[in-house]
Amino acid sequence: MTIAIYPGSFDPITNGHLDIITRAAKLFEKLIIGVYDRPNKSLLFTTEERVEMVKQSVATLPRVEARVFSGLTVSFAREVKAQAIVRGLRMSADFEREFDLAMMHKELSPEIEIVCLMADLKYQFLSSSLLKEAAELGATVDGFVPKHVAIALRKKVK
Ligand code: ADP
Repeated sequence: MTIAIYPGSFDPITNGHLDIITRAAKLFEKLIIGVYDRPNKSLLFTTEERVEMVKQSVATLPRVEARVFSGLTVSFAREVKAQAIVRGLRMSADFEREFDLAMMHKELSPEIEIVCLMADLKYQFLSSSLLKEAAELGATVDGFVPKHVAIALRKKVK
């Protein structure tokens, strides 16, 4: 069975992430979304809130599941027997960082492939951090996230 993981902070999950998830789910028989327990950045939502939002967002997608993980991404990939790590690439924001990460992952775990999917044109400028900033300043973010995430964001920044 072809298995891939899609790791990230998902603080919170956006329509850009969901686009990558939907497309990656067509390439692999099973896609496991890995929600980092402790990413190296400050978070708005707790780990439980982040994974719950992801689970709710992918509830109708068959063969897609979400789990929390901590430690090395490649260790998580090995643990769930994944052959690939999926990442999303936005035009300018992600390339250098993703390239560095991919090189590191390849070094640690040469048997696991890094599969980068290009972000859709309409999600090129969508990031969880920008979204949080806009929500904190009172902007309506409904067009960028699933409905339940927009509600959770509103509650959180109130
Ligand atoms: P991380 O902390 O690993 O960057 P994120 O939750 O910010 O976690 O992102 C997870 C993955 O999704 C990364 O590969 C990131 O580049 C990608 N991503 C983030 N936003 C978008 C978007 N709007 N469109 C496509 N991919 C995205």
